[in-house]
Amino acid sequence: MHLFTNGFIFFSKETAWAKELLTDDNGTIVAISKTEHGLKHSERDAEIVDLKGGYLFPAFEDAHNHPAMMCRLFSDLNINGVQSWTEAQAAIRSYIAAHPRKEWYSVYGWNNATWGDLKDTDIDPLTEKPLFIMNISFHGGVLNTAAQRKLREDRVEVAHDHGVVEEEQFQIVEALTLPKYDELLSLIPQFERELHTQGIVSVHDMWIATMDQLEAYMDLDRTGKLSLNVAGHISSDLLNHPKIHAALAHTGPHFSVAGIKIFLDGAIGVHTAFMSNPYKDVRHRGIPRGSFPDVATKIAKAYHAGLRSFAIHAIGDAAISTVLTICEKLSRKYTDASWRIEHSEVIHPRDIQRMVHLPITLVMQPNFSWDIGNYKDRLGDMVRWINPFRLLLNGNVAVAFGSDNMPTNPFQGIAWALEYGAYPEQKITRKEAMALYTAGGAKLAQEKKTRGSIDVGKKANLMLLDQNPFDETVSLERIRVLETWFEGKPQLSSRVMERHPAHAQHIA
Ligand SMILES: [Zn+2]
Repeated sequence: MHLFTNGFIFFSKETAWAKELLTDDNGTIVAISKTEHGLKHSERDAEIVDLKGGYLFPAFEDAHNHPAMMCRLFSDLNINGVQSWTEAQAAIRSYIAAHPRKEWYSVYGWNNATWGDLKDTDIDPLTEKPLFIMNISFHGGVLNTAAQRKLREDRVEVAHDHGVVEEEQFQIVEALTLPKYDELLSLIPQFERELHTQGIVSVHDMWIATMDQLEAYMDLDRTGKLSLNVAGHISSDLLNHPKIHAALAHTGPHFSVAGIKIFLDGAIGVHTAFMSNPYKDVRHRGIPRGSFPDVATKIAKAYHAGLRSFAIHAIGDAAISTVLTICEKLSRKYTDASWRIEHSEVIHPRDIQRMVHLPITLVMQPNFSWDIGNYKDRLGDMVRWINPFRLLLNGNVAVAFGSDNMPTNPFQGIAWALEYGAYPEQKITRKEAMALYTAGGAKLAQEKKTRGSIDVGKKANLMLLDQNPFDETVSLERIRVLETWFEGKPQLSSRVMERHPAHAQHIA
């Protein structure tokens, strides 16, 4: 058990900061005191956690993250941020030279805006082995001629245009090139440590595409190696896998398959988000994916397999309207299911009223508010419909925050929402944003009783911050997470425990 003291503890029920907090050996919060030394009669064996004047908050719950997919970036070449195709080619060449035994090279980081467009003949000179370069959006990529040949040999059908694959076709190649089970057993914990440094201990993994990913999660969970709550959402194709039943039956302690994920459109960056009005810089409205019968079939299958969370990716306002229509029709049939719109970025104001009456949560990325300032050339006045958090909260629409790993850092996301959300319908407070990034996801995961805030009876999922995020003079992007606690156990190596004597001294 631990006694947290000598800092500011965010106890959301009260207006004042709490001063002390006690956890038991199971990592549950058993007492909170509003006064210093208020818990001095508690168990004398408690290890003291000296907060050193820092700010203790509930750890973040990232309701849209991709641990199983992002951890591939530890084994692939990640050159996201490289500013030109010339520089990128040099990096790819040296990566290939350093990994002569790899059979297939995967590279992440292609940004059309800085590298320009690419096709197979542009990348063929880099290697004679299969090469796959993924766009930063994870919605498109390019295959060299050798990769196309390898796919044909393996009888994998992928439609491409001079090597360029998008959306579903991209996802086929993406899944084929993912790390396999053995690698995932070390890569997922590696990514988990990165999440801990950002104060995140609960995630909703929003795209589990292979049985290797599912089995790696299950094994890490079974062997006590998962220090992260993961609510998995699987590709509906996985429901056809012969081994899926074991995965659906696996429930915790920290991993379970919560639902399925379905795509209704793409992304604004690659002009595939489906809009009601054409983009300003190209002559179309984006690309809708999936029809009502197609979605209804997938949902029926998932429901009969026992899944109750239906997550639908929709970014453009037309795609979002379609999800609402689907939910209006099907929520009457599947009355015990919960629905989520992933991203729900560009929302037509007239749709907000429809959301209130549906069992639906909008899982939104505050970091996507960046688009308000930077996609004016594509969206024109529609940028005003991006992330209208104020309208949603005023309208009592359920919202949870997640990062989509673009980037993962929740404080950066919140900072962008507050900076770029210039229109009144987009403005929220720091307190509201923190609640959506903690309690928002916990509620959606049906874990409101165990996580999402600091309260007696809840798990001690905590983060210690060096500054107060509610202080308007503090730059959110500069806040550092000093410590992260998962169910009462410290996760960052920096924590040095002070033992019993210090406790006695402190409360004397
Ligand atoms: Zn995503």
